Amino acid sequence: MTVDSVIPFLEKAKKEEKSLGEIMIEHEAAVQETSAKNVVFGMKRIWEVMVKSIEEGIKITKRSPSGMSGGDAKKILAKSKKGKSLAGKNILKVAARAIGVAEYSSSMGIIVASPTAGSSGVVPAVVFTAAEICDATEESIIKGLFASGLIGLVCDAKASTSGSEHGCQAEIGVSAAMAAAAAVEITGGTAEEAVNAAAIMLKNSLGLACDPVAGLVETPCIKRNGMMAAEALLAADMSLSGVKSNIPFDEVVIAMDDIGQMMPCEIKETSEGGLAKTKTGKAFKIKLRSSGTRKLE
Ligand code: SF4
Repeated sequence: MTVDSVIPFLEKAKKEEKSLGEIMIEHEAAVQETSAKNVVFGMKRIWEVMVKSIEEGIKITKRSPSGMSGGDAKKILAKSKKGKSLAGKNILKVAARAIGVAEYSSSMGIIVASPTAGSSGVVPAVVFTAAEICDATEESIIKGLFASGLIGLVCDAKASTSGSEHGCQAEIGVSAAMAAAAAVEITGGTAEEAVNAAAIMLKNSLGLACDPVAGLVETPCIKRNGMMAAEALLAADMSLSGVKSNIPFDEVVIAMDDIGQMMPCEIKETSEGGLAKTKTGKAFKIKLRSSGTRKLE
C-alpha cells in the first residue's frame, strides 16, 4: 500500500482521538498482517540500535582516514556540560548526539538509516533528547518513531528520500521533518501538531544541495546532521506553540519533488558542484587520491 498523503491519517487520528503514533502502529500492524504488539516489538529493536549508535558515536575521538571528521560529537557534548553556551544545553546535546551517530556511521558503525545512512543522526538524536527533556516513557518514544515513519513514507512516495535523486533536502531535510513529528508526539502533541512541525521543518530544507566533498559522506553531511537536529527541536516547539505552516505538509512534499527535479545533477551526490568543487574540497579529493584512501573516482 502506497502511503502518499498524511490526510487519511490525520482524519483517522482526529475521529478516533488518537495520536499519530497510535494510528501508525495500527496501520503498520494491518499492512504487515500482524499484531500491534509485534510491530511495537520490532520498533523497540530499532530504537535499541539507535541508542547504541548514539552511545558509540559520542565516544569517538579518532579522526577518520580522510581527516574530515571524528571527535566533534565528544567536543560538543563536553561543551554542553560546562561553561556558558549561546544555543543552550539541549541544543548542544541534540547536535552532539546527531553528529555522533553520523560519525559512527562514517566509521562503519551500525546505524539505522532514517531515511538514509547520511542522515542517520537526526531522528535518534532528536527522539533521545526530546524524551530526556520530557522524561518520556519507552512507549511514548516508540510512538514517536512510528509518527516519524509516516512522514518518511509520504516523502518517499510523493518525492524521494535520496540525495542522488533530489539533493540533500530529500535526505537530511526529510530526516529532520521525521524527527520534528516524533518530538511532537513524544511531548504528547496532537497528530495535527506533529504533521505541522514536519511541514515547518521540511519547508526550511527545500533546495538543499547534495555536494559531498571527495564523494565521502562526511562533509557537509556530518555537521549537517547536528544542525538539522537542532532545527527539528525548534520546529516541534514552534508547532506546539500554535505556529502553523501556511503550506500543508503534502504540498510541501510536492514542492520538494518539484525543486528536486529542477536541481542540476552537479548537486545531486555527484560531487561535481557546491562544496565538493571549492578549492579546499578539491584539495581533499587530491589528497585522498594520492594517499590511496580514495582510489576510485
Ligand atoms: S550532502 Fe548528500 S551525501 Fe551528504 S547527507 Fe546530504 S544527501 Fe547525503
